Amino acid sequence: MTPLDQRTKRFIRNLKATRIISALLAVEQLIYGLFLIQPGTPVRAQYFLSAFLISFLCLISLVISKPKETISGLGYPFFEMLPLALGMFIALNRMFANKGILLNIPTLYLAFIYGGAVFFLLDYVQSGILYGTFTIASIVMVNSHALLANNVPFRTDFVINNGIAWTVSALNYRYYRQEQKHISLIEEQNQQLRMLSEQDTLTGLLNRRKIDSIISELLQNKQGGSAVSALILFDLDHFKLVNDTFGHQRGDLLLKEISALVKDQLLEDESLARWGGEEFLILTKRDGGTLAETLRENIENHVFEQVGKITASFGVSPVRPDDSEVKIFRQVDKALYRAKEMGRNRVELFRNS
Ligand code: GH3
Ligand code: MG
Ligand code: MG
Repeated sequence: MTPLDQRTKRFIRNLKATRIISALLAVEQLIYGLFLIQPGTPVRAQYFLSAFLISFLCLISLVISKPKETISGLGYPFFEMLPLALGMFIALNRMFANKGILLNIPTLYLAFIYGGAVFFLLDYVQSGILYGTFTIASIVMVNSHALLANNVPFRTDFVINNGIAWTVSALNYRYYRQEQKHISLIEEQNQQLRMLSEQDTLTGLLNRRKIDSIISELLQNKQGGSAVSALILFDLDHFKLVNDTFGHQRGDLLLKEISALVKDQLLEDESLARWGGEEFLILTKRDGGTLAETLRENIENHVFEQVGKITASFGVSPVRPDDSEVKIFRQVDKALYRAKEMGRNRVELFRNS
């Protein structure tokens, strides 16, 4: 699975914030409307309207499912802005509709503008659009309400408050981006470490530890019979002679060349590991004997630069779901031993005798 990008992670976080905050606010508004405000007043109707609108937003946030893949399109950033826009609409509406009662800039407006900047993660443009719109809308509304207190510096207040809120939002977003960058760096390094701990440094094949864990997992899951049918162990013949004749470095290179040659013949879901020195292990679903014979011929027919021809001996053991690791390795070892004993450059299948 590919990791989610920053924008998708941010959306998931905003979606969660929307669910929690809108649920709490809807209940709060309803309680106010039902118990704390005098019946019959227009303010009460406003609380009910707010509760209804916020519940609706909460409902939408519940219907939208958490994205599991990277998101795209304009709907997502728009939805992220919705809670703040709705909150501000309610706050401003209440502020201006109740101008006779609440002359100063009310706490609801401030709560939304600062709370939103902290709780919701909007990028610079989104928050710019939002706080810019709040500023303009508030100033327009002030101009159309002559009854507002003259001694309150509404316009300046709106500009400054929205400016501060945008700065808080931008800093919050910047911090989030840095945090995400660190997280992806750590994830990348972890992945590299994992790869290194599973790889043989010379050949790049799986190392002994990794193939060991693949095999034991396979047998523990009791899938051995269906997922894999055979284990092949092969050992290069008279490899010491290569080292002695052409040097250890040439020997190293030959190990790499043979690894690539064999890997080329295997399918995506087959595992090839360097078991040790010049011994290699293969897990396959195919018929082990046939595959081993193909590989043996391939190695035998290949002419290696400087070294010329080289051969390998193969042991093959079946893998059955109820077998133990010890048993399979004993069998494959025995088969390889016999291949060596019978003259090398050959494939031997495990036999009970
Ligand atoms: P046979 O298996 O046919 O019996 O003979 P052999 O000469 O291949 O067997 P032996 O096990 O005696 O020698 C294996 C040699 O492989 C010894 C060692 O020097 C060499 N070898 C093991 N690991 C490496 C390695 O990483 N690089 C190089 N260049 N040589 C290695
Ligand atoms: Mg050998
Ligand atoms: Mg050996």
